[in-house]
Amino acid sequence: MSNPAVVAIDGPAGAGKSTISRRVAERLGFLYIDTGAMYRCVALAASRAGVPLEDDAKITSLAESIRIQFSARCQEVFLDGEDVTQAIREPRVSDAASRVSKIPGVRQAMVEEQRRIARGEPVVMEGRDIGTVVFPNAPVKIFLTAEPMERARRRASELEAKGVNADIGEIARQIEERDYRDANRSDSPMVQAADAVRLDTSNLSLDEVEEAILDIAATRLKLSKNEGVQ
Ligand code: C5P
Repeated sequence: MSNPAVVAIDGPAGAGKSTISRRVAERLGFLYIDTGAMYRCVALAASRAGVPLEDDAKITSLAESIRIQFSARCQEVFLDGEDVTQAIREPRVSDAASRVSKIPGVRQAMVEEQRRIARGEPVVMEGRDIGTVVFPNAPVKIFLTAEPMERARRRASELEAKGVNADIGEIARQIEERDYRDANRSDSPMVQAADAVRLDTSNLSLDEVEEAILDIAATRLKLSKNEGVQ
């Protein structure tokens, strides 16, 4: 489970994890891994195969058999060789992802794969359980959050930028439902790690968040190196 340098970024939906994680990874020259995209791939594969989301055994074997790949910087996501970058962002896939992600067998398969991808390579990994379960010894742990209405507003403007009509009230409701499910499941619930730094980004610009994380990373990575922490 050891890793030379892991920056773990966890937090609820719409907190800005992907944008920030990608930028931080670029600045540090680390590999960026979006673990939410992996759960989204499982959900998409299940819906395409017509497997009911309540069928834990079938969904687990699906999760174990599919091949998930990322292009450089996680710009594109491939499911069994097919580019599903857009398909996994649909709201019904977001909802299904948070349902399949509570299945322990699915989590086990994804966590193994996440550790494998990161083996021996410095990474910025974002998700819900990176600092608590995937890399509990990560030297840098950030819990990124923002006020619920601000998160809904950001999601809505992302969608509008893509030409999708967005009802902010409906988005807020979907985010709240997903966060509740993610925070209340029994296996690896979304929770701030005891040693994570909590950053509320409601009133911060992207640049400010990026600089704050880079400052924390510079200190923590130097410390962990000096202490020989792996
Ligand atoms: O981060 P994103 O919103 O793309 O994640 C989609 C869903 O995948 C989340 O709502 C959550 O249920 C699940 N997830 C998870 N553990 C992670 C990353 C995502 O359970 N490490």
